[in-house]
Amino acid sequence: MKNELDWKLRVLHGPSAPRCTIDGKEVITLCSNNYLNLTNHPKLKEAAIRAIQTHGVGAGSARAIAANMDLHVELERRLAEFKHAEASLTYPTGFAVNAGLIPQLVDEGDLVISDELNHGSIIDGVRLARAEKTVYKHCDVDDLKRVLDEAERESYRRILIVTDGVFSMDGDIAPVDQIVRLAQKHGATTYIDDAHGDGVLGEKGRGIVSHFHLEGKVDVDMGTFSKAFGVFGGHISGSRDLVNFAYNRSRTWLLSSSSPPPVVAACIAAIDVLETEACHVDSLWKNTSYFKKRMGDLGFDIGKSETPITPIIVGESSVARKLGSNLLEEGVFAFPIVYPMVAKDKARIRTIMNAGLTRDDLDLALAAFEKIGREMKII
Ligand code: PMP
Repeated sequence: MKNELDWKLRVLHGPSAPRCTIDGKEVITLCSNNYLNLTNHPKLKEAAIRAIQTHGVGAGSARAIAANMDLHVELERRLAEFKHAEASLTYPTGFAVNAGLIPQLVDEGDLVISDELNHGSIIDGVRLARAEKTVYKHCDVDDLKRVLDEAERESYRRILIVTDGVFSMDGDIAPVDQIVRLAQKHGATTYIDDAHGDGVLGEKGRGIVSHFHLEGKVDVDMGTFSKAFGVFGGHISGSRDLVNFAYNRSRTWLLSSSSPPPVVAACIAAIDVLETEACHVDSLWKNTSYFKKRMGDLGFDIGKSETPITPIIVGESSVARKLGSNLLEEGVFAFPIVYPMVAKDKARIRTIMNAGLTRDDLDLALAAFEKIGREMKII
């Protein structure tokens, strides 16, 4: 059955790149998660091709049975080093981490506390948990404190606080330093989903834990290789005990097949690139500052983002949709996010910056925003 809210799937011809071809039209892309353009980095491609030659295209089994390949072990060793953590574990996807691990970390008699704007994969993970559930107001440390104070009176066995690190609709950053402090005071466990901070925040893109200098203080540092790393697959970093617990208990890990060798090898190469080539993270942030400043100067409402995610808030869903389709006609692919993904009066074009966009690309995109913004009387 067809529904007004159904996604209209566009076809990407060729690679995900800063300039790519969508439905046969060449566009500047402002809506992929490919922050650093590592999807097209020669070192990642070469590593993937080499791994196919040495290890084949598929892993043939689940990790726990017959496919715990040396490549998987090497990736986890390299990731733990990169994150300055004791140990890391990779999962088939980031969604599989949240859906498979959160319900195992808490049980009956426990409490999960979740930011009200957390990602859908966290929401599903929390729903699967047998623990009691509650939410706190978005990024509101006072409200979290209120919830923790109330929880103290109930004497739960374990309390888990879960939050996105960077919120994907607004680009704001959770106050993880204050959350960790509160958690320590109340003996709660912390779980941070760093899907949009991996490769973006912190020293060399090590993520939100590095951004806040909280190495060793976040219990579960969760992320994904599918965004700034340019590849695919979820991961966690933390203590050796956490990793042992996670792979013995997460059904999404135990019962899903191993990541294919070329994917794993490309993830290792992505870590090499982040460790040795500062230019990608640098140009991501340079492009972000330039774009935000110019969009703000033009008079667009760009919200309170602190990251390469910049929302262009226009209000009505129909206005966001029209802005999106007009921009596409001008050769700029920027995605409308409408109700019910965001509140009714907060529909927007959500842009995500890419390190591979040139100044000329950005100027072309800005000119398109200005032209259409004026035509539609948004600015
Ligand atoms: N968490 C957040 C905050 C995300 O944005 C996403 C991807 N949309 C995920 C988890 C899921 O990651 P993956 O694509 O690796 O399944």
